[in-house]
Amino acid sequence: MNATPPLFQFDNSYARDLEGFYVAWEGDKVPEPQIVLFNQELAEELGLDPAALQTPYGAKVFAGIESPEGASPLAQVYAGHQFGGFSPQLGDGRALLLGEVIDKKGKRRDLQLKGSGPTPFSRGGDGKAVIGPVLREYVIGEAMHALGIPTTRALAAVTTGETIYREGPKPGAVLTRVAGSHLRVGTFQFFAARGETEKVRQLADYAISRHDPDLAGTDDRYLKLFASVMQRQAELIARWVLVGFVHGVMNTDNTTISGETIDYGPCAFIDAYDPAAVFSSIDHGGRYAFGRQPMIAQWNLARLAETLLALIDPDDLDKAVERVSEELGRFPDLYKSAWLDGMRNKLGLLTESEDDQDLADALLAQMQEHGIDYTLLFRKLSDAAAGDTGPVLGLFPEEHGMETWLSRWRQRLESEGGSAGETKARMDAVNPLYIPRNHKVEEALGAAESGDYEPVNKLLSVLAEPFVERDGLEAYAAPAPAELGPYRTFCGT
Ligand code: AMP
Ligand code: MG
Repeated sequence: MNATPPLFQFDNSYARDLEGFYVAWEGDKVPEPQIVLFNQELAEELGLDPAALQTPYGAKVFAGIESPEGASPLAQVYAGHQFGGFSPQLGDGRALLLGEVIDKKGKRRDLQLKGSGPTPFSRGGDGKAVIGPVLREYVIGEAMHALGIPTTRALAAVTTGETIYREGPKPGAVLTRVAGSHLRVGTFQFFAARGETEKVRQLADYAISRHDPDLAGTDDRYLKLFASVMQRQAELIARWVLVGFVHGVMNTDNTTISGETIDYGPCAFIDAYDPAAVFSSIDHGGRYAFGRQPMIAQWNLARLAETLLALIDPDDLDKAVERVSEELGRFPDLYKSAWLDGMRNKLGLLTESEDDQDLADALLAQMQEHGIDYTLLFRKLSDAAAGDTGPVLGLFPEEHGMETWLSRWRQRLESEGGSAGETKARMDAVNPLYIPRNHKVEEALGAAESGDYEPVNKLLSVLAEPFVERDGLEAYAAPAPAELGPYRTFCGT
């Protein structure tokens, strides 16, 4: 008799309902799987048994060499526009969907391994991942989650005992990623580009059942699905911009239907406020620069819209184009309103006024002109709300126009009533002090590459509470020392 309960209570709707949308596949054999990071809190949220997973058997599961009971490992197929050019077939070239579990809140979540070996979609790649990029995705994804931004999560990182060559030998690693789903704009594009309208319909109905169940069976549901994805993307990108996040590779295959941030590769947070900021070494034209992200999201949504035309109005494609274009035309307002709501919160404002956009723009202009650290400025602004303008003015050079701006802003706050203490507390609850500062991330990853996991664990614990100031963590709040020069990220594969 085997009394041991299965590690996961899988319920694999993708494997069951979407035959033809994936290839059943298995992970590569690797010599020595070892768990290096494990997310206890997330394991509990997923209804898993952390003790049973943090075992040699768990390490094998997370490395992809043991298929746990109930799993139906598969590689998903998708297409995508990468830097504007269409690739008709990408797919999971180094990932395996193990299956889905229902979390404690009743939400269906994908468990995916990334770096588990080549698949039929590897296109010449080795199907592997190395420790640096795996930990980077782990750390930044968890930081985004703590900042309240929809994102895939990291359940575990393992090293495999393999040596993988990426500009030199690196320790091989696998990330276990958790997502609301791995449906991408590119998943729709794959079938639409092949003219497989019924498959697009099947996918859209599946997406509805998973992300917009209220739309199931309703008239016009495909246009409504589009509107719903657009709303989620508008809110997501607004949240990115409000914290200074640059995704770096906003291809359509990295744009989710769930509205979660996915695929942390060459991403980074800005230091000095600059809409033109680009960190990725492969983004030569600045296509995915910080300030272009809303526009790119709308472009990606237009690609999604194209895949849905035959579903929106099968009899009259011109009519379908007209209707979906009208929807898409709402994106800039949706984005602007999500951003402005967030900006009001950052500025401690409780009410809406015609003047808000201008007030925010004037602050951003000051920051841009003087190259002020975006995160620190908002954090120190809360002291100014409570009357102490010293910390915020201390960020500026001698000549600046901040006093005029500060008095304009404080007049606005005063007109709303409320105590300065309350305003400060409200602002500190939405303006993070600790973000994944690029140099701190690099430092932690560098140490982990040589086997020291203390810095990455410390960084994770700091970033888990981004809004709560704690003694002794000054180094995590400070911008990079100037002598480090401009930051560059490399497409981590
Ligand atoms: P990404 O840049 O991670 O969004 O990946 C873009 C595409 O390249 C996806 O189809 C990936 O599965 C694939 N890919 C990235 N790295 C590798 C690799 N090392 N081996 C095989 N496929 C890869
Ligand atoms: Mg990707």
